[in-house]
Amino acid sequence: MLDALSDKFEKILKKLRGQGVLTEHNIGEALKEVRLALLEADVNFKIVKDFIERVRVKAVGQEVLQSLTPGHQVVKVVWDELCDMMGREKAGLALHSQPPTVVMMVGLQGAGKTTTCGKLGRLFKGQGKRVLLVAADPRRPAAGDQLSSLGRDLGIDVHRVDNAQATQADVVRICQAGVERGREQGFDLVVLDTGGRLHIDDALMGELVAVKTAVAPHEVLLVADAMTGQDAVTMATQFDQKVGLTGVILTKVEGDARGGAVLSIRAVTGKPIKFLGVGEKLDALEVFHPDRMASRILGMGDVLSLIEKAQATFTQEQAEEAQQRLTSNSFTLEDFRKQMAQMNKLGSLEQILGMLPGGQKLKSVIEGDKPEREMKRVTAMIDSMTTRERRDHTIINGSRKKRIARGSGASVQEVNRLIKQFLSAKKLAKAMTGTGGRRQLAQLMRSM
Ligand code: GDP
Repeated sequence: MLDALSDKFEKILKKLRGQGVLTEHNIGEALKEVRLALLEADVNFKIVKDFIERVRVKAVGQEVLQSLTPGHQVVKVVWDELCDMMGREKAGLALHSQPPTVVMMVGLQGAGKTTTCGKLGRLFKGQGKRVLLVAADPRRPAAGDQLSSLGRDLGIDVHRVDNAQATQADVVRICQAGVERGREQGFDLVVLDTGGRLHIDDALMGELVAVKTAVAPHEVLLVADAMTGQDAVTMATQFDQKVGLTGVILTKVEGDARGGAVLSIRAVTGKPIKFLGVGEKLDALEVFHPDRMASRILGMGDVLSLIEKAQATFTQEQAEEAQQRLTSNSFTLEDFRKQMAQMNKLGSLEQILGMLPGGQKLKSVIEGDKPEREMKRVTAMIDSMTTRERRDHTIINGSRKKRIARGSGASVQEVNRLIKQFLSAKKLAKAMTGTGGRRQLAQLMRSM
């Protein structure tokens, strides 16, 4: 996520931090580079100009804080300004005191609108809320099918009427009926998955305005593909002018190295980003926090989001059990597999690393989806072991290895490697419990 931009910022700021005394000249040089980095990230030209000017005034003019070195101080100014640029509003979605909260999702086809409806539904269902998804594109049964299938997978109700000949009035009626059902049946949240087209046209806008007027939603959220950069910004401007938005959800942000849309949308349109879509899976939705994003961009990581994610994924009990498993001397292959399954739930390794300070660098060392594939292979091998083998790896002799390899489509060498990995994990777990644990762990981290 925003890797290219973050890499550049890290380099520029590192140079600046290294300088004991900051002069107007070296701040100016650094700002030139910042300007270029932002333009290359496809951030709106005017926004970049204003941004640089504000940073310059603040960085050059302000009194030196005792606790910060001049270089750090500039980083702080840049961080503040990045936060401002992306907005200080509360992100996410607050449910209305009078249920149901009605959210109308708009956007072009392919942006990820239907998927995002499912993601939102999942998020609120996870908070114990009752969600109703409304398929509001009756002319495209495929869109309805997609929503119904998401609803089935998530155990969420879907309101749906297909009608290839539907007029604008029919679409409005379907949405009204959906909201009515939401009210009568006590749903907390009703999400309208409105029709999308390949391009913005008057017919689409007219229909969206009609729906908005009829159901008076609490939120109108544009779903836009972050990878399209300034096109996403233009689209947000147009949707806002014609329909009126309350916010934006950017999708496919995990594949967006540049970040032009993330950085400019709020500054150009005045509408806040509420969520980020960070993957195809239904749990890949993050509440957007400008401050945390600014930290990520400046290579400071986003440990808060990682902790929140871990808290939402594991119960206290699971966390304690995992710790217990790791640090007890009876760590088995069975535990090893469980541990990996739990890590998997937190997200891909790439996502996790992206949230750690300096994690961007580590990411570049790891190739593509190799860790995920490796994890799947390891799980397959452990799955084809017998319970006895899993509990006591020492009985795994040559012929057992052959059988395990055959059963999981792996080679004997891979089984050997797995056992080696397991033994290192066991050793690490032991080191963490021993008295020299901290020191050994620190050594291990340094060698990574
Ligand atoms: P719609 O036409 O706007 O309703 O778009 P869909 O919901 O059908 O999504 C279009 C494609 O984008 C699908 O393949 C989704 O899996 C994918 N998609 C949606 N959100 C994300 C995201 O945050 N990241 C990635 N990588 N893919 C996404």
